[in-house]
Amino acid sequence: EEYTYDVVVVGAGGAGFSAAIEAAEQGYSVTIIEKMPVTGGNTLISGGEMNAPGNWVQEKLGIDGDSTDIYYEDTMEGGNNEGNPELVRLMADSALASAEWLKDEVNVEFLDDQLFQFGGHSFQRALIPVGHTGQELIDKMEAKADELGIDIYTETEAQSLLTTDDAVSGVVATNHGQEVTFNAEQGVILTTGGFGSNVEMRTEANEEYDDRYGTTNSPGATGDGIIMAQEVGATVDNLEHIQTYPVSNPKTGEISLLADSRFDGAALINQEGERFVEELERRDVISKAIIDQTGGYAYQVWDQTLGEETGTLEAHQRELEQLQEQDLIYVADTLEEGAEYWDIPVEQFMETVEKINAYAESGEDPDFNHRKGLAPIKDAPFYFQKAAPSVHHTMGGLVINEHAEVLNESGEPIKNLYAAGELTGVIQGANRLGGNAITDIITFGRIAGKRIGHH
Ligand code: ADP
Repeated sequence: EEYTYDVVVVGAGGAGFSAAIEAAEQGYSVTIIEKMPVTGGNTLISGGEMNAPGNWVQEKLGIDGDSTDIYYEDTMEGGNNEGNPELVRLMADSALASAEWLKDEVNVEFLDDQLFQFGGHSFQRALIPVGHTGQELIDKMEAKADELGIDIYTETEAQSLLTTDDAVSGVVATNHGQEVTFNAEQGVILTTGGFGSNVEMRTEANEEYDDRYGTTNSPGATGDGIIMAQEVGATVDNLEHIQTYPVSNPKTGEISLLADSRFDGAALINQEGERFVEELERRDVISKAIIDQTGGYAYQVWDQTLGEETGTLEAHQRELEQLQEQDLIYVADTLEEGAEYWDIPVEQFMETVEKINAYAESGEDPDFNHRKGLAPIKDAPFYFQKAAPSVHHTMGGLVINEHAEVLNESGEPIKNLYAAGELTGVIQGANRLGGNAITDIITFGRIAGKRIGHH
């Protein structure tokens, strides 16, 4: 089979939809091909929060003083200053316009009375879509794409790029084993996401991230676009920087939101019944510490009172039930019983709890300097959750310029090839801050969709 469009977008996540919508707004015929049976990628399963300094919710809540400059600084610093300064500047300067575009043109609904302040940010500046997930973004972008007549082919996996006279001219894909050719008269936009689900590629990039780690990612995040672009001469950067989320499901790799009681003082202990890290350390530090413990996992332990005070038990009841079915959490009537259930030496564990309770009372933690203060473990029932770190975001990937054009090794654009989203490797530096992925993918997705056809 063979189809011809002006623009072929590969990957139906947040970056792909943004690019496709802007290309269609230019009047081009556009298709998105998506290898999974459903659209959305990591964008769909993310929290969907989006940083935008100076946004309307900040204004409503009376949060003054934020600026694109401060956001730029936070992002650069958060990435150990390894991001490309010009592109980070472009993202920071465009963030608010990207958010307004989602709200006004795509009809995305954001909560109008709440913002998140993720680690590393100087202000509460992350907009929260209704439902607190990326579902709202994808639903609305897909509706917009539909309205604009964009064709979406699911279960259609791009395999390689076609070139004609040094310019990219299409994509060869497969659909249930059948080869399908998509000719692209104006060019191809790659938006296939990161490579968190590709263990081989992960390990090659950084040997730390082998199969001891699960992943929070969608199964489609296998780095396909990075590989396909390299085959036509693209250059890559930053691949070794891979972000993990410390407290995830050891069986499925999913992020644990039930374990958010950690932010208010829940303890992490190892199989020997001892604490081993400050529970509010950076994600990478806690992850590494857990991997180094017996079995490569930890137990997060907290009591009923903390679970109620933080609202986590109520908000994440479904996850609690799922973890019980998977035998990953044990709800114990006594501390001894909980330790015994997981074969943790009871005497050592009771000593650790005694210390935790003393530290909770004094507010000082001489062992690991808990910066917020540990919570006491006193009131039954007690929660013993088994957890392990999981690969969450890959910072590295294709090198693009300010027009989202993919560059070759000499720094020149490869003709008619564009890329945006997690598969690019020059914006988040060594570490991506929370809420920055959505800002990045929407901004550069739009840039690619507006640029294609003009060069
Ligand atoms: P981003 O956040 O950069 O938009 P996402 O992970 O949200 O990235 O979306 C990327 C999408 O690309 C996913 O839906 C994924 O299944 C899809 N994808 C990955 N590789 C291919 C491929 N070879 N062909 C088609 N779609 C792909």
